[in-house]
Amino acid sequence: MCGIVGYVGSREAVPVLMNGLKHLEYRGYDSAGIACLNGNRNFFIRKEKGKLSVLQNVLKSIPITSHIGIGHTRWATHGEPSQINAHPHLSHHGDIVVVHNGIIENYSELRQELKRHGYRFHSDTDTEVAAHLIEACYKGDLAQAIQKAVKRIRGFFAFVVMARKEPDRIVAVKRSNPLLVGVGKSENFIASDVSALLPYTDRVIYIDDDELVQIKAGEPPSIFDLKTGRVKKKPVSKIPWNIEQANKGGYPHFMLKEIFEQPEVISRTLKACVNLKKEINFEGLNGRAKTRLKKTRKIFFVSCGTAYHAGLCGRRMVEEYARIPTDAQVSSEFRYGDPVLSSEDVVIFISQSGETADTLAALREAKRKKAFTISIVNVVGSSIARESDAVIYTYAGPEIGVASTKAYVAQLLTLALFSFYLGRLRQQLSGLEVKQLVLEAWHIRAGIDAILDGTKSIKAVAKKLYRKNSFLYLGRGYNFPTALEGALKLKEITYAHAHGYAAGEMKHGPIALIDSSQPVVCLVPESKTYDKMLSNMEEIKARKGIIISIATKGDRLVRKMSQYVFPVPKCREIYSSILTVIPLQLFAYYAAVFNGRDVDQPRNLAKSVTVE
Ligand code: GLU
Repeated sequence: MCGIVGYVGSREAVPVLMNGLKHLEYRGYDSAGIACLNGNRNFFIRKEKGKLSVLQNVLKSIPITSHIGIGHTRWATHGEPSQINAHPHLSHHGDIVVVHNGIIENYSELRQELKRHGYRFHSDTDTEVAAHLIEACYKGDLAQAIQKAVKRIRGFFAFVVMARKEPDRIVAVKRSNPLLVGVGKSENFIASDVSALLPYTDRVIYIDDDELVQIKAGEPPSIFDLKTGRVKKKPVSKIPWNIEQANKGGYPHFMLKEIFEQPEVISRTLKACVNLKKEINFEGLNGRAKTRLKKTRKIFFVSCGTAYHAGLCGRRMVEEYARIPTDAQVSSEFRYGDPVLSSEDVVIFISQSGETADTLAALREAKRKKAFTISIVNVVGSSIARESDAVIYTYAGPEIGVASTKAYVAQLLTLALFSFYLGRLRQQLSGLEVKQLVLEAWHIRAGIDAILDGTKSIKAVAKKLYRKNSFLYLGRGYNFPTALEGALKLKEITYAHAHGYAAGEMKHGPIALIDSSQPVVCLVPESKTYDKMLSNMEEIKARKGIIISIATKGDRLVRKMSQYVFPVPKCREIYSSILTVIPLQLFAYYAAVFNGRDVDQPRNLAKSVTVE
């Protein structure tokens, strides 16, 4: 969701802040702004509704020279997207400036109180309350003022703050929302996401909840415990990604680039998780994790959005290969559903960003109930990774497009390997069987390459159908989650209505939609339920629906029954969902492009949902 950057050092602050915000653009936002301080202790604030380019134009006409500043891209929660509501927010007397990610839950009570004390409000945001409150607590020491003010605030936040009278520092504090410090040579950075820091440094300190950090030029960052005020020593970590990975690399959109990176993601994942003897190993699963997994009576997968679809696949994989009862739930439902958990259960949280608010809250709930928690996360050092008992990292690399593609495929392969690992641990699979399964996994890469070679024909079909505004997606078994994921991709980036169903449910409702104008995407690769899918297709055909099939290459029967076919190479059923999702990603991508949509930043959506 919103993005935060801060800089102090010898460079010109504005380009650093704007470049940082540019790298956070993918997270989704509705307005942007920056605040800088100059030597005369004056704040310069520029903020605008809309894209960063609007702000950039303003900065061109009224430039700012400064070596310290903070920036923000806002995803409105309180108050409409507007110039006035955009961050940074200035305090009543102009002494404090604040950017904020999150929500202040008791803002209305605090607002009334501050109004009674003569504070005037200009915006409708909850954030302005924080600016005034910090000013009200300010007695010449910004860190102390923040410490005091935060005691009054309920909710979740990352605040990054500057004080006019202390022009050499930026102070930040967080609870639930992500925040990290970038450590440079004689300069320091602050950001909500590593992508903003990649052009400048790969050395970071992850800030934990209820920690306060102060950065200055030429000094190492100092971190304090918010409650006790004591100094904390924290390790400096190295980010495993580089800036090239976070650029478009000649593709028109990040999403297309990321779709084409998927063969590489397969190889990277296999190289990381399988050794030369073809045994599966996860670096993050220590002895304790192994013991808990050996004994667990039930496994839960908990996640949101695309990662939830990966969880649904994971559930099937674990039940098939490890024979452990498994459930998959969306984080928000799991969290408030008072789940029946004990120390005999393992709960696995899946999240690309590792910052998804609902998933983080669900993780805390599971820990409170003494379950063993494992996370499957793409961003190293993210909150979910740090808070879970064990972590399995995925090897997707930085994913920038809001619609997840390569992170999903990385999750699916990781889950397949995890289910074999668990099968071996629980003696459901022999070493030889695992070897065979792993050997076949190496063919997925070539399978994806072959599908990508057919991009042109997928694009041609998208060109024919992109004006349709309702789509049905049907699948069974491992391809039921693919139906959900295909529909989600399409609706996220084209804004067409799309619905995924378990094909067996078709007769229980969706069949009423079918007529000669209704496109139905049928996932029908070779599988245990292939014949059942064929029957569904007959039913659609009898009602003259437009059938777009994803089928095993060379399947003549399916070809005869369908208007359009996207072929996928033959593979073992567990791997089929990794292949069948690729044409659906490409179809959604081109349908969005033909509709003239903003593919990488679709309206109303954010890359990582850091508010509940
Ligand atoms: N709640 C704040 C607002 O609406 C911050 C939103 C954000 O995280 O961007 O302005």
